[in-house]
Amino acid sequence: MRIGVLALQGAFAEHLAVLARLGVDGFEIRERADLNGGIDGLILPGGESTVMGRLLRETGLFGPLKEFIQRGLPVFGTCAGMILLARRIENDPVVHFGTMDITVRRNAYGRQLGSFHTAEEFHGIGRIPMTFIRAPYITEVEDGVRVLATVDGNKVAAECGKTLVTSFHPELTEDLRVHRYFLGKIR
Ligand code: GLN
Repeated sequence: MRIGVLALQGAFAEHLAVLARLGVDGFEIRERADLNGGIDGLILPGGESTVMGRLLRETGLFGPLKEFIQRGLPVFGTCAGMILLARRIENDPVVHFGTMDITVRRNAYGRQLGSFHTAEEFHGIGRIPMTFIRAPYITEVEDGVRVLATVDGNKVAAECGKTLVTSFHPELTEDLRVHRYFLGKIR
């Protein structure tokens, strides 16, 4: 199993470290040629969605990755990665991949004081630690989207088909269960 991690910007190294701990073959995606070796799953990391969106287009990765996702490639978006996948961004006119039928609000906890840790139930996994960094949350979900976790009434994790998104950063905790859950979508 080969999992590609978008490595244009942001917290991609941490995702690769988690994959290594799980004994899974992860590789960096920086340019189109990186897609030539085959890909079984894709991780879109946290970072800055506007920057990643721009770099995706500049590198020519945007088109091929969108096509892979539309064809059903399992994809896991964390934080900015979730914003890249959302069909609508409440406070930003831009749409990136737009393949998941959710509406998100960027920097939903405020820009400066928006970073915090907590622990909450994640559907089917149990209570997990959650690290939020200037995170978005989901304000609306359409039919077919399953909400997997909420914090203070706000939706912070969801899935639809082979797409999984979290507002928080599981790759910044020692808990590997959310990544394992994603890998379960591939096997
Ligand atoms: N605030 C960032 C954005 O809007 C997301 C933050 C993150 O990925 N940690 O793109």
